[in-house]
Amino acid sequence: MHVYVHIPFCLKKCAYCDFASTGLDAFSGRPPLDEYFRALTAEIESRAPLMDDTSVSTIYFGGGTPGAGGIENLLKTLDLLKNIFTLEPGCEITVETNPKTFGASDYKRLVFGGFNRISIGVQSLNDEVLKRLGRVHDSLEAETASKEARGAGFGNVSVDFMIGVPYEKGRSAVKTDFSGLGRLGAGHVSVYQFSVCEGTPIASRVRRGELIALTDEEMAAEYTLACSSLEKAGFAQYEISNFASSAEFISRHNYSYWLKHDYAGFGAGAVSTIKNARQSNCREISDYINGIKTGRYFETEILGPGEQRLEKIMLALRTAEGLAAEELAEGGCEILLKSPIIKRLADDGYAFLRGGRLSLSVKGFLVMNKIALTVAEILPAAEQH
Ligand code: SF4
Repeated sequence: MHVYVHIPFCLKKCAYCDFASTGLDAFSGRPPLDEYFRALTAEIESRAPLMDDTSVSTIYFGGGTPGAGGIENLLKTLDLLKNIFTLEPGCEITVETNPKTFGASDYKRLVFGGFNRISIGVQSLNDEVLKRLGRVHDSLEAETASKEARGAGFGNVSVDFMIGVPYEKGRSAVKTDFSGLGRLGAGHVSVYQFSVCEGTPIASRVRRGELIALTDEEMAAEYTLACSSLEKAGFAQYEISNFASSAEFISRHNYSYWLKHDYAGFGAGAVSTIKNARQSNCREISDYINGIKTGRYFETEILGPGEQRLEKIMLALRTAEGLAAEELAEGGCEILLKSPIIKRLADDGYAFLRGGRLSLSVKGFLVMNKIALTVAEILPAAEQH
């Protein structure tokens, strides 16, 4: 089992973000931090004992910016999880952070409290881009955060980057530069392609023509360049958006999602998938806090076999290991081998079929959804043979 805890607060909302998060500066009065953590505690205490599997191999505190919820609250919540669940030896315990949230002494407290992996939202090492994104930190603060976290004992540091950020009218797109990556000392890098989310300040600027969003072709070029730059810097790609300098730094928590393992999510906007039941908690902080009191704070969806099958294909094709065709359909590998469509994808450099697994190249990752739908169509049809 894997556990996710969502902390929906940030210091300030970034200009591109539509995640389930609210800037602390957006509350007219005191932010409802105490109320939120009371509700979160109540959810964990009420749901966890009902779970069949209480043995946990990864825990992930994400957001938002977990630190915006207060370090005491994070440590108390982790203690609660440790009391309720049985943590497996070597349990990976990650906390996401923003370079501005914590100082050196905070990192030490987090390590002492049991966190052993940190994921820092760096996003860019270009201060102009960071400003455009509305981030509250600059590149030097990102370097300092990583240095302090490592100095405090975090041996497993991940950094997030964003590529293809819209550029200012009359100027050209800035290619993401990973040359400063070494200074961050990270063993893991996540790279996300920028998408313009409706309702955000950046979307308004794009609509007004002040910022130019990248075309699909430009974004594809940017992604391809990012993958090769990271490869040259010694990071092996193990998933569409994730790169690790060695196997020990692969995110075990995120990998569990791609393998479709059960996971329990707690907090506003958190999702749990246990067997074929998916529980989605309400996103609004106030709805969640009030809903916890009445028990009405989530919706449950039962995933049918078709949905589960397509999800499994999509998630597996995100990884460099790819899809084990035999796990989906008896004789699945043979069926894929004989398929002219798959042969063409392989001949054109989109996919590889080897060792019974279908995996995608960087070019293939760019059209992963289409390939997954094609594979889903080929495999079920063949199952009836
Ligand atoms: S720090 Fe992350 S979650 Fe918070 S507003 Fe920025 S992008 Fe969104």
